[in-house]
Amino acid sequence: MNNGQSPVPPAPQPAHLPNSASPTLPVESSGLNDNDAPKYFFQEKYAPLNVKGNFLTLCACPKNVELGEWLAHQIVEQYRLLHGMLQVIQEPNGPSGLPICNENTCPTMSAGRLTYTWLVDGRAAKISAPKFINRVEKWIVSKIHDPVMFPTTPVHGVPITAALNDVDAATSAAPGTVSADSWIGKSSGFPQTFYKDCQGIMKQMFRCYAHIYHAHWLNPFWHINKHDILNMCFVHFITVAKYYKLVADKEMEPMQPLIDLFIRQQRIPPEALNGGHWAQQTSS
Ligand SMILES: [Zn+2]
Repeated sequence: MNNGQSPVPPAPQPAHLPNSASPTLPVESSGLNDNDAPKYFFQEKYAPLNVKGNFLTLCACPKNVELGEWLAHQIVEQYRLLHGMLQVIQEPNGPSGLPICNENTCPTMSAGRLTYTWLVDGRAAKISAPKFINRVEKWIVSKIHDPVMFPTTPVHGVPITAALNDVDAATSAAPGTVSADSWIGKSSGFPQTFYKDCQGIMKQMFRCYAHIYHAHWLNPFWHINKHDILNMCFVHFITVAKYYKLVADKEMEPMQPLIDLFIRQQRIPPEALNGGHWAQQTSS
């Protein structure tokens, strides 16, 4: 387990506390698992990446590419990376044949103190993490393959797609993202809701990362020495999310200490923070 290079965290922490007494929660939910144990993954010594370099070069929109086209490409790529990490906790494992993230280990979709809920028949329902993640993945794949949201040829008419269950988004409005007759992706045939849909998808992807870190960082990622790959995927994800204002700052709170750490180390490049894409456009 210990390969002689990586320090081993002092002691495993319980992945979850029982929370059967929890009251019904609002959709964005909260405050139950009062798990204040130190989080190893929030500490610098446990936060290496397996690559050096600047994710800005992977993330910045080339001048000759329409932003909508580029964002679609970014979303697909981010989903590919996340899916690879999710597979690690979804594959049947050990004698039980159960995946590491299963109904018993993860009866709710938690990220530290937060519990994410799923809208079922108009009500916020607590479902297990594996069910939640499975639904998110199916939903994202359906979006990516939806010819209205991700058209392969320009389309006309009114789009009917909308972001998942919450339009709160609170993401600070990016300049020129949408207006009655102009929006990101219009010239490439994307619907008016395209940017909002991208935000909806990225928010759910963020929640999957938050669960991976809070519930499965130690087991299996640390134990199989894949925590550096996880960090690389996460830094890339956050760089894109911040650069294009796709995930609200408030949504990122469960992972804020690690995000702050990567910002201090400039692994999340400063350009992604200071106005991102739109600042680059006006300054050049
Ligand atoms: Zn889990």
